[in-house]
Amino acid sequence: MPNKPASENEPHGTASFGFRTVAEDERQGLVNAVFSSVATRYDLMNDLMSGGLHRLWKAEFITMIGAPRDDRPFRLLDVAGGTGDIAIRYAERSGPNATAVLADISPEMLEEGRAKVAARGLDARITLTQGNAEALPFPDRAFDAYTIAFGIRNVTHIDAALREAHRVLRIGGRFLCLEFSECRVPLLDRLYDFHSFEVIPRLGELTAGSADPYRYLVESIRRFPNQDAFAAMIREAGFERVSVRNLTGGIAAIHSGWKL
Ligand code: SAM
Repeated sequence: MPNKPASENEPHGTASFGFRTVAEDERQGLVNAVFSSVATRYDLMNDLMSGGLHRLWKAEFITMIGAPRDDRPFRLLDVAGGTGDIAIRYAERSGPNATAVLADISPEMLEEGRAKVAARGLDARITLTQGNAEALPFPDRAFDAYTIAFGIRNVTHIDAALREAHRVLRIGGRFLCLEFSECRVPLLDRLYDFHSFEVIPRLGELTAGSADPYRYLVESIRRFPNQDAFAAMIREAGFERVSVRNLTGGIAAIHSGWKL
């Protein structure tokens, strides 16, 4: 099943929500309902659905942030940070003056994140804030790095989110996005389709009592622009030296860009 850019081929005033077409101004509310319903089981489902692979992808992603391990200051903004996987791993692998702001639109996901941050004693290093990736509540050039992991495909106006990423980064700052992408390995792509459409919704049904949120998650992956199309959008937002690193044959990919 080929990936299809989310914003293309949709009639004016509409947007894709998984494989459905919905009114553009209705979409974020539907996305919020998905994350509000999965928040308490989000971490468990991530492990079950990916067989733990997301941990390896996230480890690679954290390394690319390149935060200092000594006492130099560093400011990370982790958008769509949800239950805190990126901000927490980053804080645990960087020096004492490396701080993070985690912004997410969902109060329920933030609540889970807040509890995890507190349990690890990281409240002084990680601040959690409610915010929309399309209109961030931060001043220009406030951060050294911007991360968004498995978040951007949930955003209705991806171009607006990318412009905001560019705005809040300092000159020389780095944009990093970890997202599902287009699997480019024959056979693995078939297996992956089977896993996505047959296994994941059933896992959702068994573990969380409903397949619908998980059907949205896998469908939204197929509607997200592939590696090349997304790299072009990042360039369009003003980033330079844009590059892509495929993970597990392209099932996921890390896009990087610099504000120069
Ligand atoms: N980054 C975390 C991770 O890697 O585990 C969470 C990813 S989760 C799949 C997607 C997150 O995006 C959810 O927490 C959701 O609330 C958030 N989100 C969706 N739309 C958003 C928006 N417009 N602005 C900010 N966050 C958004």
